[in-house]
Amino acid sequence: MGGTTGTYSLRCPAYIGGGLEPRTGYQPPSGLPHSAKASGAVGGSFPRPPPQRNGEMLRITAKVLEEMFDHCKEEREKTGNEACGYLAGKNGLITRAFQIPNDAQSPTFYEMNSGGQLKCQKEIRLEGLEHLANYHSHVATQAYPSKRDIDNATQTQEYFDGYYVVVTLENSMPQAKAFIIRDGSVLQEEDLIPE
Ligand SMILES: [Zn+2]
Repeated sequence: MGGTTGTYSLRCPAYIGGGLEPRTGYQPPSGLPHSAKASGAVGGSFPRPPPQRNGEMLRITAKVLEEMFDHCKEEREKTGNEACGYLAGKNGLITRAFQIPNDAQSPTFYEMNSGGQLKCQKEIRLEGLEHLANYHSHVATQAYPSKRDIDNATQTQEYFDGYYVVVTLENSMPQAKAFIIRDGSVLQEEDLIPE
């Protein structure tokens, strides 16, 4: 049944070559070697601080939550694989979902297509929105970042400091949680609240 209309007006159909694009306005700190994070000898400071959201939880419109769930379910039905994408909005409220191909084509991990990411970053900028979160699905495990998810988030934390949303399809009803990941650890975990 499904019962949803599955409107995917926000696909990112064109894929151009290119790598991860650093966010504008952010300059990675100089003089802080990447390897410093493993030594624990960086004076306890993060390469950049966790985002300050004034205690506000990350929120999402019910429509976009449904779109994200539909994308994850559709990908599992078609290929058995994890789905992934971007979530964007303003003031902590997600109002747009952008599907991005999973280049890994795997049921246990994902690699966002770099051209798809670039395209979505441009759309988000043009619409005056903020890239608030990355999402991906777990087809048969809980809504919690895997070791690989945590490692990947850590490797790109200088470029993206938002939330990681994990959607689990292990039960009949999909469920989503949002995480802040820094320096190899999950710092924060929130239920994703639809409005
Ligand atoms: Zn994962």
